[in-house]
Amino acid sequence: MNKPTDINAVATVPLWIDGKAQPATTTRTAGVTNPATGRITRQVPLADGRDIDAAVGSALRAFPAWRDTPPLRRARILMRFRELLDAHRDELARLVTDEHGKTLSDAAGSVQRGIEVVEFATGIPHLLKGEHSEDVGTGVDTHSLRQPLGVCAGITPFNFPVMVPLWMFPVAIACGNTFVLKPSEKVPSASMRMAELFKEAGLPDGVFNVVHGDKAAVDALLHHPQVKAVSFVGSTPIAKYIYETCAKEGKRVQALGGAKNHAVVLADADLDFAADALIGAAYGSAGERCMAISAVVAVDSVADQLVAKLQAAAGKLNIGAGHDKAADMGPLITRAHRDRVAGYVDQGVAAGARLVLDGRGLKVHGHEDGFFIGASLFDHVRTDMSIYRDEIFGPVLVLLRVKSLDEAIALINANPYANGTAVFTRSGGAARRFEREIEVGMVGINVPIPVPIAYYSFGGWRNSLFGDQHVHGPEGVRFYTRGKVVTTRWPDDKAVPSGLNMPTLG
Ligand code: NAD
Repeated sequence: MNKPTDINAVATVPLWIDGKAQPATTTRTAGVTNPATGRITRQVPLADGRDIDAAVGSALRAFPAWRDTPPLRRARILMRFRELLDAHRDELARLVTDEHGKTLSDAAGSVQRGIEVVEFATGIPHLLKGEHSEDVGTGVDTHSLRQPLGVCAGITPFNFPVMVPLWMFPVAIACGNTFVLKPSEKVPSASMRMAELFKEAGLPDGVFNVVHGDKAAVDALLHHPQVKAVSFVGSTPIAKYIYETCAKEGKRVQALGGAKNHAVVLADADLDFAADALIGAAYGSAGERCMAISAVVAVDSVADQLVAKLQAAAGKLNIGAGHDKAADMGPLITRAHRDRVAGYVDQGVAAGARLVLDGRGLKVHGHEDGFFIGASLFDHVRTDMSIYRDEIFGPVLVLLRVKSLDEAIALINANPYANGTAVFTRSGGAARRFEREIEVGMVGINVPIPVPIAYYSFGGWRNSLFGDQHVHGPEGVRFYTRGKVVTTRWPDDKAVPSGLNMPTLG
């Protein structure tokens, strides 16, 4: 056993307000843990209303000048930010691995996906272009424009400490808004580093602020009258709460929730290809991805062969600390979460599913206090079992057997979550039908994690998203701006006099 950490000996992460690191007013703190060692490495302040007031106040003061900065100049600062993120990508990936636990190569991939959103946001002069119609009436023209909202807030989960914040703040800031980010209190350091780099890129003070905390900080943001829009990514119950609270407060909101992503494997699929793809999608990042495949739907005769291939490949996964280059899969985020995932494996066994591979009780040599669990695989799972119904968010893959594509589509469409899904097949007709009939936000055809690229928008349906707009891409720009339509007439000798009737301009 490691000795308990002396919490007074570890540094406290500051807040980032007004372009500089500042201590929080609150005295409440929480420990930040390295999941591979189980040791507390930092303290994080749990901000209260006074800290939120300070951050929102700073963002509010910075707003008028930033709004009036031409989009081209905003874009140039984003270009420099992109260069700095690129130059510091290894450092950022290391911070992700330190606090989240995922492997370094996986962390580096997520940093890259985040950088791509900044690249998208550098196109903001083009993205903000409006429409213009000449002569909507005699001597009358109409044009539309999109304008920023003011102070926007982002609340992010633990599983992508760099990428998910980057889904939000570069787009919001490119649009002319100022921003307050509240990252997960479990992984605070990467956001602080990004704030420093953004300042180095030339971002004016107050345009981007970072506060840390738990429900108290989130509630203060949700109820703050000067916060105009809230972007949230996290679990479904909290997403729903954020959506409902913002709706009551009259705020614009997009709240992305949890997931249970299915992959359908049809009888004509290349099974080696499908099994290989499913192993990465189910067990990559130890299953702590909102786009992880956690349920395989085996159609017709493929189940036995597929289970054998999955079992063989999952059984060979190397589980270790994320910084260990040989590791395929790191630990889970906390001890409590590891125990919860193990509890689901217990429940699956008790409910009568066949446990083909058991990841419980795994010890990693030299990391006995880390939050590790091995890969688990269940066969003969039914839809009434908790291992199917709930988002486990760990390395547990469940396999359901169905008789037809019809049955597979009906099963997926009946699930309350609808973030992502995939189909493996060689049939263009079957794939096309799946694409048209499946009621899920992101669909992969022989692609297991169909994550849209930065210039498309990301988001699910049903309980995986509360709100109307997905994040980043064109919907991100719409979310962070509001439309205005201007109709113009310049009086001259042709001007038609106004009467009392409804103007028709014809
Ligand atoms: P979480 O919901 O526990 O926390 C997300 C954020 O909400 C954190 O910043 C946290 O501090 C805050 N929060 C927690 N409890 C709160 C409360 N009671 N009131 C107000 N705020 C609260 O999620 P998590 O455990 O950090 O992340 C994992 C979840 O995120 C999974 O469900 C996963 O599917 C989901 N996720 C979804 C997407 C997506 O795009 N749909 C992407 C990544 C993660």
